[in-house]
Amino acid sequence: MSVLLNDTARRMAEIQDKVNNGERLSLEDGLFLYESDDLLAIGQMANQVNLRKNGKKVYFIENMSLYFTNVCEAHCAFCNFRKDQGEEGAYTLSGEEMIAYVEQHFHPGIREFHIVGGHNPHVPFQYYVDSLQALHDRFPDVTLKAYTGAEIEFYSRISGLDFRQVLQKLIDAYG
Ligand code: SF4
Repeated sequence: MSVLLNDTARRMAEIQDKVNNGERLSLEDGLFLYESDDLLAIGQMANQVNLRKNGKKVYFIENMSLYFTNVCEAHCAFCNFRKDQGEEGAYTLSGEEMIAYVEQHFHPGIREFHIVGGHNPHVPFQYYVDSLQALHDRFPDVTLKAYTGAEIEFYSRISGLDFRQVLQKLIDAYG
């Protein structure tokens, strides 16, 4: 067992040397990394190469994931988040409730709110618009990354607006 561990550590050190020297990795190196669970070492090497190649053009930001509601009309097979309206644990937050939550957990390093959540048909489309508006009014310097194509389709269905109109209303709430 210890021989195996030593082999693994030696291989990782060899790859680290290649990365330090700016050498191209081999197919075998790639397969070794693919099978490794040492995500910290792999992440550090990836960051090292990224910085060398791209400088600070590629970077990461700290965001905060927000879910206004977990009530959802869809039943995606993989989902362990959704609830039916009235089911234990189901919730739908108002803008004020979400702001109170964010204020409890916010710190100045957070530069983006990542907003997704359930497709709740028990509130109107305006609810989703107002949610963004409330957050943007309270935290104008934080970027909103909100909703996916699935939500836009859902909002179009419940509002009777076409996709372009839905997007425009969401953009206006942010503006
Ligand atoms: S749409 Fe989202 S919340 Fe709803 S069931 Fe699918 S993954 Fe879950």
